[in-house]
Amino acid sequence: MLTESRDCLVDRFGRVVNYVRISVTDRCDFRCVYCMAEEMEFLPRSSLLSLEELAQIGQTFVQLGVTKIRITGGEPLVRRNVIKLFRDLGALPGLRELVTTTNGSQLPKMARALRDAGVRRVNISLDSLDAEKFRRITRVGDLRKVLAGIDAALEAGFERVKLNAVILKNRNHDEVVELARFAAGRGMDISFIEEMPLGVIDDHDRAEAYYSSDQIRQDLEQVFTLIPTTESTGGPSRYFRLAETGTRIGFISPHSHNFCDHCNRVRLTCEGRLLLCLGQEHSVDLREVVRSSPGDMGRLSQAIRDSMSIKPKGHDFDLGAQPVILRHMNVTGG
Ligand code: SAM
Ligand code: SF4
Repeated sequence: MLTESRDCLVDRFGRVVNYVRISVTDRCDFRCVYCMAEEMEFLPRSSLLSLEELAQIGQTFVQLGVTKIRITGGEPLVRRNVIKLFRDLGALPGLRELVTTTNGSQLPKMARALRDAGVRRVNISLDSLDAEKFRRITRVGDLRKVLAGIDAALEAGFERVKLNAVILKNRNHDEVVELARFAAGRGMDISFIEEMPLGVIDDHDRAEAYYSSDQIRQDLEQVFTLIPTTESTGGPSRYFRLAETGTRIGFISPHSHNFCDHCNRVRLTCEGRLLLCLGQEHSVDLREVVRSSPGDMGRLSQAIRDSMSIKPKGHDFDLGAQPVILRHMNVTGG
């Protein structure tokens, strides 16, 4: 058993890890072109961590000083009974921020339950406000459902609802101003994300579709005044505020602005692989640990501590090269 005293995870480079992103499923009701290939083979259910195993790992991380957990996927809200996991994590003393990232499609029926389970903030992915373009990017998504999901999240009373938009040249780069206006009009923040080369996709050439954060910023500056801020949410975003509305605009720019020096996070895949870096393969198999020593929190805790010695210095994404990271974002947990 672990004692009540709280530890702290520190890697070889002195970076404190206090944030864990947990992917609870690789499945999804969408097939976004930058995230998945059109035909995907999903993992057999038996290889996924159970909700109880996920809760046990989450609890151990919190005992090791983690204060923020993001539940993601795949689409986290399509995992059966996932609310139970949110409730278990939401009840952990020491966990300051329980948050989630979703495509929004299930929020009309689940937003309230998430809020009641202790989720403080939600990020909702929205790449286009045009139903046809939205369908092209998500391959199967229905914009109306996602907009209803955003409304449901705003009504449920989360501390903050933020939009995430992956911007691709010639797909949706012409919508950045509209997306910012949409967010501002509803009191939401918005982050613009550069596409990352995770997994082999068949829809487009990632280098050709690259649209940098600096280009997005210039587009926004045609209409708004962007004021740089030093705000941080403990993530890789650089933030600005719109002078006109106060809306916070984030840029996640793995290519143009490397954020590794301040990395404070690790990721747990839905199969229980603890990934020490989004852009590298260094990992530890926590599923093996929880399944071979059920209930042994001490062994789990030691395995997590030991993993700090292999956290790499940083990623080396290269859009022009063949992807070195073969796992898709839905497995990794974006
Ligand atoms: N299904 C949920 C969603 O779409 O919000 C959660 C999982 S998704 C993998 C998390 C975030 O990763 C989304 O904002 C999505 O747009 C982003 N994403 C997926 N693939 C990406 C890629 N190759 N490059 C950059 N962002 C990506
Ligand atoms: Fe699904 Fe999210 Fe990937 Fe889109 S980005 S396919 S919604 S997991």
